[in-house]
Amino acid sequence: MLSPLKSYEELRSEFRWDMPERYNIAYDACDRWANVEPERLALLHVLPSGSVEEWRYGQLKRSSSQLANALYALGVVPRDRVALLLPQAPETAISHLAIYRLGGIAVPLAALFGPEALRYRLENAEANVVVTNRSGLEKLSALREQLPFLEHIVCVDGDGQAHGDLDFWSLLQKGADRFEIRDTSPDDPALMIYTSGTTGQPKGALLAHRVLLGHLPGVQMAHELLPQPGDLFWTPADWAWAGGLLNALLPSLKFGVPVVTARIDKFDPEGAFDLMVRHGVRNAFIPPTALKMMRSVDPSPYTEKLKLRSVCSAGEALGAEAFSWSEEALGVTPNEMYGQTECNLVLGSGKAVGVSKAGAIGRPVPGHEVSVIRPDGSVCDASEQGEIAVRRGTPVMFLQYWQRPDADESKFLGDWMLTGDQGVADAEGYIHFVGRNDDVITSAGYRIGPSEIEDYLITHEAVGLAAVVGKPDPVRTEIVKAYIVLKDGYEPSEALTNDIRQYVRVSLSAHEYPREIDFVSELPLTTSGKVIRRILRDRARKEVELVES
Ligand code: ATP
Ligand code: MG
Repeated sequence: MLSPLKSYEELRSEFRWDMPERYNIAYDACDRWANVEPERLALLHVLPSGSVEEWRYGQLKRSSSQLANALYALGVVPRDRVALLLPQAPETAISHLAIYRLGGIAVPLAALFGPEALRYRLENAEANVVVTNRSGLEKLSALREQLPFLEHIVCVDGDGQAHGDLDFWSLLQKGADRFEIRDTSPDDPALMIYTSGTTGQPKGALLAHRVLLGHLPGVQMAHELLPQPGDLFWTPADWAWAGGLLNALLPSLKFGVPVVTARIDKFDPEGAFDLMVRHGVRNAFIPPTALKMMRSVDPSPYTEKLKLRSVCSAGEALGAEAFSWSEEALGVTPNEMYGQTECNLVLGSGKAVGVSKAGAIGRPVPGHEVSVIRPDGSVCDASEQGEIAVRRGTPVMFLQYWQRPDADESKFLGDWMLTGDQGVADAEGYIHFVGRNDDVITSAGYRIGPSEIEDYLITHEAVGLAAVVGKPDPVRTEIVKAYIVLKDGYEPSEALTNDIRQYVRVSLSAHEYPREIDFVSELPLTTSGKVIRRILRDRARKEVELVES
């Protein structure tokens, strides 16, 4: 636990991981509360009607024990993969806890995935059971023939046996409500989370039970020493993504902080403000694209009514503009964090521990060693660009990629885990994000990171969202091309294009301004809300090919 009385430097130098010999997430995130305070509030589930269903730790323990018994009866044994194709809902939390209880491996899948995305992941994971809802069941029914490993589909809102599936609630009723938690080591696998697939095919990162303990210092830093009296957590992020599950749901349950849950099919910025006001949310994890979408609407009806105490953002670059907007519109300084599914929340910020800087992704979270390194593994000097790398030995480090020994090998350089991201450390030790290795643009001899340009672009009054990629160019290797979503009330025009180009050229730099701009109605996003620059890059490349042919 981070102490409020110490400086960041003290916290960092004194930090030691205190790993228990035996550890299971189901105990830490549920039973430790359920055993002493069964009536303690765990989840506040907002139904589509707006009414709220309360879930207490005792109920979560009972239901997840029943489900563990039911899964066991279906033949699920430790280390079997059980996939969860569900939005935020109590059933999702119950399923996670049931799988950990049993010693199985939970494989969360985003409810927004289409059939091919599901087929790829379920086949790769060789999942025996999927817990889903009716819309998931529809997608899966069409795929069943192609998934020989898949034995059972459990449906939370299905109509019984009609499709050869099992009904979640009837299963629970059949299962006894006691299930002794499997005696696991902190290093036993608990979860397999697929990376977002921003750069290519997603990889299944296998994570051990210890991953939750590894997240706690980062979550405490990002949420100003969570837990504090009255804390109430909400995230619009899908729990199928490391951000939603490990930065929000599981640490909150561990800390005894109730979580507001709501099914979100498409992020609605006004709906997000409204939900936070209505339920008095105190702690929020809001990824950068979501915050930037909120920035595109008028916050004034909500600002005074918000009760936020801490806001964390991660998954993409937040940037200085969205940082200062959050301070004004949300009334709190956002704490930017950085990590990846393979090794999450390793850099971060926290005002309460004195680490906060607009435009930086933070400093190493106590307990993790993170540096910007050169290709030979030596640490870069301040201001020298290199790859962000994490030293082995932290509990958040993944165990392996599932069935991808090729990817495992290239992920490490000696003791360093390579993130595939370029960064620069400044003189104060803050790390600044430049871009993913693949996203860095080479233009006329310069290596340009998209983040800085995107961050500047959104300071233009007409720009809502912006994504920048390199477009092949015979003279400059690549030119900077921007895809822009305009704010409401602005229309694309040649004059606006020129104005935005000039705006960046004059104020940011003469070589980094976007020579080409396309106005688009939306950007291609992963289900975790990240801009897939790879798709835009392909689009830009095709434009060149078309001109050439
Ligand atoms: P894939 O590995 O399949 O291409 P992905 O890298 O997007 O997908 P995740 O593990 O969800 O999958 O995301 C981790 C990545 O997100 C990091 O490597 C980094 O590129 C980006 N990221 C995370 N936090 C930040 C941040 N604060 N600023 C900039 N980028 C961030
Ligand atoms: Mg990645």
